[in-house]
Amino acid sequence: MLLNSKLPTVKTSIFSVMSALANKHNAINLSQGFPNFEPDQQLLDLAKKAMNSGRNQYAPMAGIFELREAISDKFSLLYNSSYHPETEITVTAGATQAIYTIISTFIRQDDEVILFCPAYDCYEPTIELNGGKVIPIQLKAPNYKVDWEEVQQNISSKTKMIIINTPQNPSGTIFSKDDMLQLQELTKNTNIIVLSDEVYEHIVFDGENHQSVCLFSDLKLRSFIVASFGKTFHVTGWKIGYCCAPKDLMDEFKKAHQFNVFCVSHPMQKAIADYLQNSNHYLELSNFYQVKRDLFLGLIKDSRFKFTPSQGTYFQGLDYSSITNQRDIDFSKRLIKEHKIASIPLSVFNSNGQDEKILRFCFAKTDDTLKRAAEILNSIQLF
Ligand code: PMP
Ligand code: GLN
Repeated sequence: MLLNSKLPTVKTSIFSVMSALANKHNAINLSQGFPNFEPDQQLLDLAKKAMNSGRNQYAPMAGIFELREAISDKFSLLYNSSYHPETEITVTAGATQAIYTIISTFIRQDDEVILFCPAYDCYEPTIELNGGKVIPIQLKAPNYKVDWEEVQQNISSKTKMIIINTPQNPSGTIFSKDDMLQLQELTKNTNIIVLSDEVYEHIVFDGENHQSVCLFSDLKLRSFIVASFGKTFHVTGWKIGYCCAPKDLMDEFKKAHQFNVFCVSHPMQKAIADYLQNSNHYLELSNFYQVKRDLFLGLIKDSRFKFTPSQGTYFQGLDYSSITNQRDIDFSKRLIKEHKIASIPLSVFNSNGQDEKILRFCFAKTDDTLKRAAEILNSIQLF
């Protein structure tokens, strides 16, 4: 049979590849981003309670009202921003489904979508599946600063969407207020939709504030915010997230969402709705991960790896250029096989394959794992 693939160049996701290799070689897995510790027992008890109290049939299509209301309250509390729980919030099967559905809802053949590289891996194939064209803007280590004039030059009459991600996976950088104001100015009086991937909104370091699109009134009108409870509550396997947008955008989103998943796991929604009632459950997260970042970086400060401390997310980029000239993909595989430590090569997130000799390490790990990882990294000399 002639399959005629719609994604002829797409391979298995780097996260699957590296985690499988880590398992095969019994390596410490700092590649795929997930915590290797358990979530709060209270959250697990709430899930059990929801299952034992009749929450086992389909949830409403947009999510149970208690959860949408709790999300709406969080926006009021954190950003003084209003999203109506009835019409402007939808609960999704993780951020990935929200992103897939947003892109599928709006992108037509030959529409252009601007994204910033290194970019999280699910944006590009989804755009291509829908016939859209990716317009990549390559950012450079170590600061990954956006040149907004370059963005302006890449906007055309075909630009339908701009995707941003702050805090950014994999670079660990954040957008400043000035970045957001520039984006707002560039998109003013256009029909460009902004997809703002804010899954790490609660993991921002060194006293900086997360700059959500909802803080910028003009930007908010054209934007989707995408979020994930997996990151916030250490439950990446639950695959629950949400998106919010003004009603006109959300109405369109729901037309596709209802035929994509219809609704997502009911008991987990109830558990999270209850757990969200205590804002400390997400407000303490930045501090929790900053301690881990500092532990990890403190332990490897005398190694041959160079770094700029991550500003957000639970990822840290390490520059290995003073160890070897090898390509990042090859070097990361050698580290797994020969040193039993797994990471993610950054070049796979660059549309042009640019290799800056940087590997991404996930520090959402127990202190013991981070110490064992640091010992290995400290022992690596020249390759
Ligand atoms: N966006 C970014 C930037 C991510 O890092 C991730 C997952 N790590 C996702 C989206 C997907 O989130 P989820 O697991 O909730 O689908
Ligand atoms: N988002 C996670 C990461 O960046 C991985 C998610 C996945 O495996 N698809 O590592």
